[in-house]
Amino acid sequence: MLKIEKLSASYGKKQVLFDISAVIERGKFTAIIGRNGSGKSTLLSCIASLHSYSGKITLGGRDISSISRRERAKALSFLPQNLPITPFTVAETVAFGREPYTDLTGKLSDLDKKAVCRAIEQCGIAHLSDKRLGEISGGERQMAYLAMMMAQNAAILLLDEPTTYMDAPNARELLSALTLARDGGKTVLAVMHDLTQAIKYADNVILLDSGRPVFSGSRDAILQSGEIERVMGVESHRLADGQYVFL
Ligand code: ADP
Repeated sequence: MLKIEKLSASYGKKQVLFDISAVIERGKFTAIIGRNGSGKSTLLSCIASLHSYSGKITLGGRDISSISRRERAKALSFLPQNLPITPFTVAETVAFGREPYTDLTGKLSDLDKKAVCRAIEQCGIAHLSDKRLGEISGGERQMAYLAMMMAQNAAILLLDEPTTYMDAPNARELLSALTLARDGGKTVLAVMHDLTQAIKYADNVILLDSGRPVFSGSRDAILQSGEIERVMGVESHRLADGQYVFL
């Protein structure tokens, strides 16, 4: 279980996160939602140990700041919003996910190679394996990095707006891959700007408003609370198939 206690964070003198406490349930898909600038990415960066904060984040009771970088990489993986276009191929990129498991030579064991192949299959990008990241589309690149994350095989997957550059079919594929990972026991924590997707795929939701958590709980509870409508300034509509859209 990932626990956030009284977390605050700033950029210089500007405080952007205020006293956030939340529990991220193990084996569940949790979406972080909120308006632009509400602090979603900063919160995820704090959890990924990429932004300084006051307060405490614990993983299974251990303060994450006391866990070594290598151990942390086995427990927690992070997919940022802006993914670099490197000269590497898709297969090479996915293999980087095994870094926490290899020795100093970086040589992949048979187990590592299997994990790389499995991740490539899981993300449906086998046909792109030998392509360089600069030769594929933004959405395909996102799937390649998702496969890198799958190869890393951490218990917790942190993703910052993972479907931003994707068309609807690719977004569906990525979210299905995350759902499968969740079903396999992974904990998924994703910043999501698309409310319809968030409500469709997430078990739990954290809603931020100006750096404060105004809601943290189950998908059904947030739908009942009316907080999405109030904070995001949208109307929700339940369609005949049970899905929600927010306009
Ligand atoms: P969100 O992900 O919800 O859009 P962010 O976490 O990116 O929000 O930003 C929260 C606040 O922090 C915003 O007011 C934003 O302008 C500010 N901010 C984000 N990144 C920086 C930065 N590098 N330097 C200064 N302020 C920043």
